[in-house]
Amino acid sequence: MSQKYTVPRGTKDILPSEIPFWHYIESSSRSLFGLYNYQEIRTPIFEHTELFERGIGDATDIVEKEMYTFTDKGNRRLTLRPEGTAPLVRAYVQNSIYAKSKVAKLYYCGPMFRYERPQSGRYRQFHQIGVECLGNALPIADAEVIAMGVHLFDELGLSGLSVTINSVGCAVCRPVIEERLKQFIGMNLENLCEDCNRRFDSRPLRILDCKNVTCKTYMTGLPDIRNSLCHECTDHFNYVVGYIDNLGIRFQINPQLVRGLDYYTRTTFEIVSDQLGAQNALCGGGRYDGLVSQLGGPATPAVGFAFGIERAVMILQELSDYHQKVNPLIYMAPVGFDQVAKCFLLVDRIRRAGYRVELEAGKTDLKSHLKQADKLDARLVLIYGETEAEQGNILVRRMTDRTQESVDFDAVLEFLLAEFGPGHG
Ligand code: AMP
Repeated sequence: MSQKYTVPRGTKDILPSEIPFWHYIESSSRSLFGLYNYQEIRTPIFEHTELFERGIGDATDIVEKEMYTFTDKGNRRLTLRPEGTAPLVRAYVQNSIYAKSKVAKLYYCGPMFRYERPQSGRYRQFHQIGVECLGNALPIADAEVIAMGVHLFDELGLSGLSVTINSVGCAVCRPVIEERLKQFIGMNLENLCEDCNRRFDSRPLRILDCKNVTCKTYMTGLPDIRNSLCHECTDHFNYVVGYIDNLGIRFQINPQLVRGLDYYTRTTFEIVSDQLGAQNALCGGGRYDGLVSQLGGPATPAVGFAFGIERAVMILQELSDYHQKVNPLIYMAPVGFDQVAKCFLLVDRIRRAGYRVELEAGKTDLKSHLKQADKLDARLVLIYGETEAEQGNILVRRMTDRTQESVDFDAVLEFLLAEFGPGHG
């Protein structure tokens, strides 16, 4: 027998049965971002390694341990992108997008790569959809980005979500925050892991993001970073939470939320789900006012978020009413070969109206049609036999409750509109 191959560890095939969830998430995101006046940008899957070392920060887990880095035949150091913000900012600077308008609202969608320990909801190739609003320093920009995330997940019908928010300060107050943290952490430094010890001097905030269980136990009683924020950062934070509170968004403040990337300033936030188990963060983001200038552009404030499509799919798969949301399958059942041509005409009309239809012309008896419709998980079966042909009707059978009714052949589209709403095509 010849050798069988499997996908590399931490990656997976997205099979046809899962694809409708992906399309649903991607298309809902695109239309919703459009409402907020965002435009898509697509950047390469790999970039120069220095972009991530500088952008994400060389003391982060991503840069220290998780990047897929290689040297190409021209001896360039390249890295499969582990996240989308640094590449987007690189493109923003390289293409002088800042010169075209004061504020740029951009989104991206695609695969990311991190050499992490795979587990449920954590992969080495995963997919993110992210938004970035560049050029707006006002707290309303942070609030709008958070509101857009919440709006999207509401629209997708994801339940059990909550927003957690914090501020990690700016260039002015960050040193004060770091000093206070060091005083607290310093007492237990010898009990903390190697990474935390290494990061203690240069990046003490990173210690709050350490995944090591022992390290986490030493973080209880930690001083609340918000008490060390400067006036501007405190004001900014209060405005952001005021705005989202006003919209009725439920949130919690978590003073230890720093997130795993170095570029954040002021606001950091996460949207977590109670349906995801250990990897419960669906979406993460925040403000990064220093990144554009750090990557060679003009000083430009910015704020954004990214969420993982795999995790959103996991939540949707748990929800029983998901099928109400996507385009349900309609099964066309000609009973008798003579009816096939007329059924072919009808499915053409229905598909042009944007509904999903399967015409099974190989079977001509009702019993095997119904068996096949069940197998395909069809929501509705349209039955057209000799009697229906004589009467100018179609018999419509709902597979959920097995009820049937007769509908005028020419009124099928009106029936579908009432049953499912407008088609998606
Ligand atoms: P981050 O870029 O780390 O801020 O992550 C943002 C979101 O991307 C997370 O909340 C997850 O939904 C998703 N994500 C990050 N890393 C992974 C991974 N290794 N596997 C699957 N999803 C991930």
